[in-house]
Amino acid sequence: MKKIRTRYAPSPTGYLHIGGARTALFCYLFAKHYKGDFVFRLEDTDIERNVVGGEASQLNNLAWLGIIPDESPLNPNPKYGKYRQSEKLDVYKKLAYELIDKKLAYKAYDTVDELNKQRAEQEAKGIASFRYDRNWLMLSEEEIQKRNLNNEFSIRLSLPKNTIYEWNDLVRGKISVNSDDIGDFVIIKSDGYPTYNFAVVVDDHQMEITNVLRGEEHITNTPKQLAIYKAFDWEPPVFGHLTIITNMEGKKLSKRDNSLKQFIEDYKNEGYSPKGIFNFLALLGWTSVDAKELMTQEELIEKFDPSRLSKSPSKFDIVKMEWFSKQYIKNLDNDVLISKLNSPKSKEWNEIFVDTYKSHCATIKQLNEFLKIYLNIKKNLNISYQKNDVLKTFGTFLKNKEFTIDNIQLAINETKQKLNIKGKELFMPIRIALTYEEHGPELAKAIYLFGQDIIYERLSKWS
Ligand code: GLU
Repeated sequence: MKKIRTRYAPSPTGYLHIGGARTALFCYLFAKHYKGDFVFRLEDTDIERNVVGGEASQLNNLAWLGIIPDESPLNPNPKYGKYRQSEKLDVYKKLAYELIDKKLAYKAYDTVDELNKQRAEQEAKGIASFRYDRNWLMLSEEEIQKRNLNNEFSIRLSLPKNTIYEWNDLVRGKISVNSDDIGDFVIIKSDGYPTYNFAVVVDDHQMEITNVLRGEEHITNTPKQLAIYKAFDWEPPVFGHLTIITNMEGKKLSKRDNSLKQFIEDYKNEGYSPKGIFNFLALLGWTSVDAKELMTQEELIEKFDPSRLSKSPSKFDIVKMEWFSKQYIKNLDNDVLISKLNSPKSKEWNEIFVDTYKSHCATIKQLNEFLKIYLNIKKNLNISYQKNDVLKTFGTFLKNKEFTIDNIQLAINETKQKLNIKGKELFMPIRIALTYEEHGPELAKAIYLFGQDIIYERLSKWS
């Protein structure tokens, strides 16, 4: 059997988006499940839209998620040529001219005005997608010669009439499109650059890609790509088009929607767990046969089954993402977390702090927020509170003992017994008066972290 090879081929037009990351992740899981290769390459021919650092950002963010390509522009396999389209323009051109020689493609000399006119005519007739009407055939030889002098032509693929392009989509099953509904399309633009459809086919073929997984917005491109494969007599890969990711209202995620964090860079900066995000993304349009949710990368690779890719849109639920991140953060070693803490406190203190708070945090940022409770000690209690017996009793028990977590817990238990109260009635007065917070982690630890001086001072003030 052929070695499975998948690829993720972003345009370096911006940072790694959640949608791109999910595509890359499924391609990665697919390749690794079948012991194949995952390739990263760049579609950078839209020079005006490229952003400086776009490639590095994509690669770095993927690496942060734990998605390391087997091949990339930084780690190419020379056998497969260049991994940036901008570096292989001559390759595309040469291949396009081969098609011209075989009369499977032709130079088209239409001006922008002529094309606009065609477009307007078709729109008036209610034709939804533009089909080139072979205007070039109508031009006189003299006119063609004239335009040829200016070198102003694009190269179009000559499509056979009434031919069906069909594929068995990994996600959606059989899809077929008639060539008459496509029309001859451009493969090399008048500026000499290949179009996306042409370059992607050449790349996929030359890199021996076996399986293409990508967003559903590319479904309309696939028949065009199949036409190119046919023209070259190359074997096409297996295609699968992932469904869209929506927001909680069911609308397609828009990169312009600032109310949602959508870039991997944002999660990285806030200190989400990359393993948590990896796990979360894997379930954005895929489910394991046993419906298990928490899975390591290794487990996901082992279990990945493309036939379980979802046919309906996936909802991007930030609350769920935070839950995943939390599950991984709480299992991190204390030392790892301490190294990410901006804390001037002692090692022993940091240990207890991290141990107390780590199961409450989806991000390192949140952990550092909690730390502020102990670094910027609140002077005033801003929560309504009335002096009461609970705190007084607790204070009496506590002050008889050495200030340790166990003894704080003991004093809480003694208070409980003595006053015969429990739950909120017991904890709230103590928590509010001593931590100045209504919510928090395990009470004895939260109290201990303030240190004896502050706690004694608050005890005398509020009991
Ligand atoms: N650059 C294209 C994109 O980011 C790649 C499409 C494909 O995978 O064929 O959507």
